[in-house]
Amino acid sequence: MSDEAGSSAPRKDTMMYEHWCEHAGCKKWGSLGFALGKEEPRWFCAEHQPEWKLKHA
Ligand SMILES: [Zn+2]
Repeated sequence: MSDEAGSSAPRKDTMMYEHWCEHAGCKKWGSLGFALGKEEPRWFCAEHQPEWKLKHA
């Protein structure tokens, strides 16, 4: 076994922006982001995505 130790710098590409569903009590991953104007984007899961995302025909 040849362990090449020495350059074990922590990877930075795993620093994902964590955003969970903002729905109260929901622990799901907020994969859907919604932003109104310049407000901070809010994240919801597929179940709790806000209604205003839907387009009115
Ligand atoms: Zn949710």
